[in-house]
Amino acid sequence: MLGQADVVVVGGGIVGAATAYYLAKAGAKVTLVEKGEIAGEQSSRNWGFVRQQGRDPFEVPLAIESVRMWEGLEAELGADLEWRQGGGLAVAGTEAGMAAYERWLDVARQYQMPTRLIGNREVRDLMRGAEGSWPGAMYTPTDGQAEPAKVAPAFAAAARARGATITTGCAVDAIQTAGGAVTGVATERGEIRARTVVCAAGAWSSRLLGGVGVAMPQLAIRGTVSRTSPVRELTPAGVWAPELAFRQRRDGTLNIVDGGAFDYDLVPATARWARDFMPLWKLFGGNVRLGVGAPLLAGLLGMVHPHPFRATRVLNPPPQPLRIGNALAGLRRVFPDVGDVTVTRSWAGFIDMTPDMIPVIGPLDSPSGLVVASGFSGHGFMLGPIAGRLASEIVLRGQASLDVAPFRLARFRDGTSMGPRPLI
Ligand SMILES: Cc1cc2nc3c(=O)[nH]c(=O)nc-3n(C[C@H](O)[C@H](O)[C@H](O)COP(=O)(O)OP(=O)(O)OC[C@H]3O[C@@H](n4cnc5c(N)ncnc54)[C@H](O)[C@@H]3O)c2cc1C
Repeated sequence: MLGQADVVVVGGGIVGAATAYYLAKAGAKVTLVEKGEIAGEQSSRNWGFVRQQGRDPFEVPLAIESVRMWEGLEAELGADLEWRQGGGLAVAGTEAGMAAYERWLDVARQYQMPTRLIGNREVRDLMRGAEGSWPGAMYTPTDGQAEPAKVAPAFAAAARARGATITTGCAVDAIQTAGGAVTGVATERGEIRARTVVCAAGAWSSRLLGGVGVAMPQLAIRGTVSRTSPVRELTPAGVWAPELAFRQRRDGTLNIVDGGAFDYDLVPATARWARDFMPLWKLFGGNVRLGVGAPLLAGLLGMVHPHPFRATRVLNPPPQPLRIGNALAGLRRVFPDVGDVTVTRSWAGFIDMTPDMIPVIGPLDSPSGLVVASGFSGHGFMLGPIAGRLASEIVLRGQASLDVAPFRLARFRDGTSMGPRPLI
């Protein structure tokens, strides 16, 4: 046996690492188990946007509280996270896009967010040297950004400093139960007994939960990101524009992305969840390119592999060359004077999605003792701190300090899911 804990957290992304931190801070005996490395998957591969604007209305209170936590996170964790509160800018390509942003201001007002609409001139003031005839943008000065590769490791280190056990390179093969209650996990190095397990397994959560008969609809899209050589200062804001999305890092380099365009690789689970995801497909399918290739093969192999969680230590899909070229072309179009900029590296990550693009956060009725914090649908970097805190509160007190009812897993089966509602 590998040991015993009050709580086992499965997954060492930002959500699992933050959960372990807040549990350890509250004095719980916690063991985090990660099959690969801390932040090996989504949590180091994301763009680094900490964006509140344009979110699903249910998510907004969590986003606001998470940003409040981000503001003090470097001090809390004693680590440099390259946090910068330079605002968030969502540039509209059309008048219809601008009208949609205007409608979203009702949500912003409800939560006293400082979000406002700005015209083309102010957009170009915020993005120095930008050229474009956009009708305007939605701007939230309190949005921010940080360096993904630094954050989950900082949470994990701080959790360890407060007594948590962090075990990497060790797959959880199964959640164990007896009489309808969690008893621990079976890992490749032995069993860990615990009466509570938190599933923070990112893109693997649906599969892990399936092992205890829990159905969580979840699929993943592939996002390609590129890093450029350093350029002159463009803007402190995280920018989402039709031509490209980007943010400028402390060293002057950029993370650039081909607007809102993604790739979807067919996998065996596609057929299983097709009906659940149909509304999302209808909404965003136009921005997604379908692919059939290695992920389908890997998925089929995973179905017959005796230990699927050991088979792929780190999900590392290839970046899509088309997206790299489009992003660079978009950068040159928007900033004609950007100079001699090149792409120095590109990578991709699978973004785990739920059908309504908001996460699952909460305890399950059955088995008891199982808490889920997963399915962050492209928002989990921003939500990471609050997600970890809420998961820890659910474990320790049986309830969370913010309303997590909209995030119940049961919404997908009892008809209470509102369907996909985010704007960006
Ligand atoms: C390209 C891209 C861009 C994005 N941009 C943004 C952005 O700008 N802003 C934003 O807020 N969000 C963004 N996201 C989303 C964000 O990165 C994720 O929502 C967030 O990182 C999810 O964190 P997580 O801890 O739930 O999952 P992950 O980081 O994926 O971590 C899950 C971990 O669980 C481990 N695991 C799984 N199964 C097991 C098992 N059986 N045993 C042991 N370990 C297991 C995995 O190895 C993995 O390390 C982006 C994502 C991608 C890929």
